[in-house]
Amino acid sequence: MPTAAQGSSVQGKVALVTGSTSGIGLGIALALAEQGARLMLNGFGDVEGAVALVRKHDAGARHHGADMSKPAEVEAMVRACEREHGRVDILVNNAGIQHVAPIHQFPQERWDAIIAINLSSAFHALRAALPGMRSRNWGRVINVASVHGLVASVDKSAYVAAKHGLVGLTKVAALENATTGVTVNAVCPGWVLTPLVQKQVDARAAADKVDNAEATRRLLGEKQPSMQFTTPEQIAGLCLFLCSPAADNVRGQSWALDGGWTAQ
Ligand code: NAD
Repeated sequence: MPTAAQGSSVQGKVALVTGSTSGIGLGIALALAEQGARLMLNGFGDVEGAVALVRKHDAGARHHGADMSKPAEVEAMVRACEREHGRVDILVNNAGIQHVAPIHQFPQERWDAIIAINLSSAFHALRAALPGMRSRNWGRVINVASVHGLVASVDKSAYVAAKHGLVGLTKVAALENATTGVTVNAVCPGWVLTPLVQKQVDARAAADKVDNAEATRRLLGEKQPSMQFTTPEQIAGLCLFLCSPAADNVRGQSWALDGGWTAQ
């Protein structure tokens, strides 16, 4: 009986997805595993739940607990993936955090953490994984940036700076590898209803003294013309496309899935 994964372009590929115990990263990891990739997960929180979900499709899925704010741990995670799965073919730099406050009240420690986790970890992972990809002349790097890699919003200085930086890093890495089989691209979601965004919905509900549904409507209404959240499954679908042969010559792009946010 043929399975969905047979003939898939990620069948048998090794994928390392950072921040894949929740939200968008878990959605991408699940889609890759469903299509026959072998997974190395990363992230905190409900590790066992995430590993159990992914193992329904990839019985050999592993997890590495590296803290993306620590360069030595990022490198150790890549080496562990190479040791345990043989290589890294697909690297998805997804781990990210948020803090919302105006610059004059922004805690220095939150700035440092957001730059480290949302931007520098992608550099450290790329630096560690690229030699192996280049030696095999095949690789896919997908950086999960954001609409905030393309445009700004108030109170998100560190996040916007990190995501604009990630879009720039994507372009440089794509150019440096342009004559190889290694492509580097970014995906730029608008609002996606994950724990990271639910916190912002909750803050909006408290500030405006409205219920969850009204806070959600206001949040979307400000920025996202479709009035629909982008889903992790939709982002995963774009990632699968970027891993396919049709995307062999898609290089250095930052592709928005934002319900029209950046078209305004
Ligand atoms: P989430 O909070 O659901 O998941 C974040 C993941 O990162 C979790 O697995 C968490 O354990 C992990 N993580 C956090 N700090 C870490 C660290 N120091 N080391 C290792 N792992 C760590 O958030 P999400 O919404 O799924 O966000 C995932 C990515 O998507 C982030 O880069 C975020 O900026 C980006 N993004 C999210 C949205 C959105 O609307 N939710 C929109 C655009 C971009």
